[in-house]
Amino acid sequence: MFQKHNLLTVFVLFAIFILISGCANEQKNSNKTNNNKKLEIVTTFYPMYEFTKNIVQDKANVKLLVPSNIEPHDWEPSPKDVGSIQQADLMIYNSTYLETWVPSIEKSVNRDHLSFVEASSGIDLMEGTEHHKHEMDPHVWLSPVLAQQEVKTITNAVIKADPKNKTYYQKNSDEYVAKLAQLDNNYRTALNNVKRRELITQHAAFGYLTKEYGIKQVPIAGLSPSQEPSPAKLGELKEFALKHKVKTIFFEELTSPKVAETLATEIGAKTEVLHTLEGLSKNEQEQGLNYITIMHQNLEAIKKSLDE
Ligand SMILES: [Zn+2]
Repeated sequence: MFQKHNLLTVFVLFAIFILISGCANEQKNSNKTNNNKKLEIVTTFYPMYEFTKNIVQDKANVKLLVPSNIEPHDWEPSPKDVGSIQQADLMIYNSTYLETWVPSIEKSVNRDHLSFVEASSGIDLMEGTEHHKHEMDPHVWLSPVLAQQEVKTITNAVIKADPKNKTYYQKNSDEYVAKLAQLDNNYRTALNNVKRRELITQHAAFGYLTKEYGIKQVPIAGLSPSQEPSPAKLGELKEFALKHKVKTIFFEELTSPKVAETLATEIGAKTEVLHTLEGLSKNEQEQGLNYITIMHQNLEAIKKSLDE
């Protein structure tokens, strides 16, 4: 019922909008409110929000859809969320391999005023590792190089939706991309000369990052953190860790560290957090942490583990 009501509201609003724009065309400047209406953007999970926010700053309203303390792999929108998407001008998401619910929403909502933007479009996705082959890996935002590409794709979509602010958006975007390029530089320099090149992570989120800097990711779980390893797989990991003298097992901020802890105890290693940025808690945001600062923390943790 909520959805029906919502669709009707949207239809009525849309009809009014057509009327108003018609009048505005005849009498220029007579409809200032409508001309100054801010772009409404809905983004799915944290990096999509931060990338977009850095481009638009105060010239558009940006909403984060997936609550920041929730892991986005298993999240699905409520009717209220579908309502928010329906009211927006742009819906920005990472990849249909992560936000798997997007195609069905895209089919069901009224798209006269709304565009869907897949930030990873144009990027060659790679297949998941080992037993998760034939499943594409959506974690492109964790590579500072591919993150730049996502920011550029979002920028083009924002400019297309609001061309009068093109210069402003392009300038903000160029500045943010420059920061990402600097981050890439820091990774390349720091990881150029390390003792070891194997990284055991909780789920296979760091494939693009490790590939970029010539490191091997060995994930405990698959592409989604809810996929638990079999005892045989754990045995293999244990053997691998001992053989390569791995002393740190990484786990993540939003999922239970239990399996990582078990493995670490068995091989006498310690556990450390590696942040996937799949969510950023209110507390982390209040501390002023963001994609760039957390990626620097990740770099320190990775470098330390590869050098110990
Ligand atoms: Zn993930």
